[in-house]
Amino acid sequence: MVVLDEPLKEVMILKNYIDGEWVGPKSNVFVDVVNPATMKTIGKVPRSNEEDLDIAVKAAKEAFPSWRRTTPLARSRYLFRLRDLLEENFEEISRVGVIEHGKTIDESRGETRRGIENVEVATGIPSLMMGYSLEDIARGIDEFTIKTPLGVFACIAPFNFPWMVPLWFIPYAIATGNTYIVKPSSEVPFSMTKLFELMDEIDFPPGVINMVHGGREVVQSILKHPDIEGVSFVGSTPVGKDIVYAEAAAHGKRVQAQCGAKNFFVVMPDANLDLTVASAMTSFYGNTGQRCLSGANLLIIGDDDFYSSFMNKITEAVKSIRIGYGLDESVQMGPLRSPDKKQSVLRYIDIGVKEGANLTLDGREFELIGDYPRDCFLGPSIFEDVKPEMVIASEEIFGPVMSVLRPKNLEEAIQMINNCPFGNAAMIFTSNGGYARQFQYDVDGGNIGINIGIAAPMAFFPFSGMKESFFGDLHGQGRDAVNFFTEDKVVIQRWF
Ligand code: NAD
Repeated sequence: MVVLDEPLKEVMILKNYIDGEWVGPKSNVFVDVVNPATMKTIGKVPRSNEEDLDIAVKAAKEAFPSWRRTTPLARSRYLFRLRDLLEENFEEISRVGVIEHGKTIDESRGETRRGIENVEVATGIPSLMMGYSLEDIARGIDEFTIKTPLGVFACIAPFNFPWMVPLWFIPYAIATGNTYIVKPSSEVPFSMTKLFELMDEIDFPPGVINMVHGGREVVQSILKHPDIEGVSFVGSTPVGKDIVYAEAAAHGKRVQAQCGAKNFFVVMPDANLDLTVASAMTSFYGNTGQRCLSGANLLIIGDDDFYSSFMNKITEAVKSIRIGYGLDESVQMGPLRSPDKKQSVLRYIDIGVKEGANLTLDGREFELIGDYPRDCFLGPSIFEDVKPEMVIASEEIFGPVMSVLRPKNLEEAIQMINNCPFGNAAMIFTSNGGYARQFQYDVDGGNIGINIGIAAPMAFFPFSGMKESFFGDLHGQGRDAVNFFTEDKVVIQRWF
């Protein structure tokens, strides 16, 4: 067992980043941040208040006129420099992700890469921001569009991808000429602190990018602040729908709220078994099941022999998952983010047992590699004989639990998926093009995987979502993000 060096050597007192300066919160209140694998305190994060947010908005508002006059090419040069710095710091950023969140180092490296890719895509802003034009809409009159930035935007981030998720928005917001405020999840504030340290090195004009740590009070202040034009939220459905979307929209803001999920992983009898089992392993148990694209319900179509051979194969594979501290490179699954999150998953396991599902692999019993407190660790679970109406088949568990269901055929599987209120991701494993096409066409879900276990869109595609998984019009990443952060101004010009 070789454990990589931790990136922080002592407890770090974090600060907000406002107007190009590191500043403490007005309240002087801080909250401990704990490494979920070791349960050691690794930092103290500000509990900021409305006043801190207001100061950040003022700075961002003042920075806007001159930043929007900076040419798109000049703005993209900042991002090129940032991209190089991120590459130079790739490993440190990835290790920070492990100690604050608990994910494995490989999962964290993947997250770091996905974040950098968004910076790379946004460097193309001179092309991405082009409008369109038509000569002679009437004789001697031309018409064209200009994508114009709007002012101050803000993002409210979740705990599960503390590095990547804010980068679905930040590079596009600033590349298009807006100024920005990030509110990281207070459970995992180090990734964004590292990003802001690097952004500080390349001297963005003060006020262009700001970070305010905190909880509900900061979120409420963002949603109501008259000088914030739009809000990007990623997190759970109750918060995203009833608080962020409802209140921000009521205050006249643009909103994109990417929310919770319950994802389906469908196996057809003609699927390639090795590929499907390997994909299911990462889909259900990667990031310890704390992924909005994680498989949650496994739908197996086929006769009893096929079902048994598939379940035997996957159960054996799942039993071999190595659980431990993510900085040990041999580990395949880290802890849940906090003791509360573990308790929540344990509650769902109890519910599943009471509902009559068959717990064929009990994650409450597991071997832990290394001598770590077990507060946040949990093994992988499998429930068989699950029915669609059961709680474990319909609510988001957000942990390493697989619920197995047996629809009669593809039509019934699609019906089960479409009956679920969420619409984030759905995957099918098949070698039949007709089944794949039917699935892609009929499933109400934003991110569809065909022989892909985690249907995560690349940075130049929107990170989609439907139904209770998404509220708003435009998603994060790529052209959707560019459109979210700009308004099309239409100009009609008579030449004589
Ligand atoms: P969460 O909703 O608890 O928190 C998200 C953010 O909202 C945090 O910054 C938090 O400080 C803030 N917040 C929490 N409760 C609040 C309240 N009552 N009032 C105001 N602000 C509040 O979500 P989480 O647990 O951090 O993240 C996990 C959730 O995010 C899961 O449901 C997951 O599916 C979802 N998620 C969705 C996507 C997607 O693209 N659809 C991506 C990642 C995560």
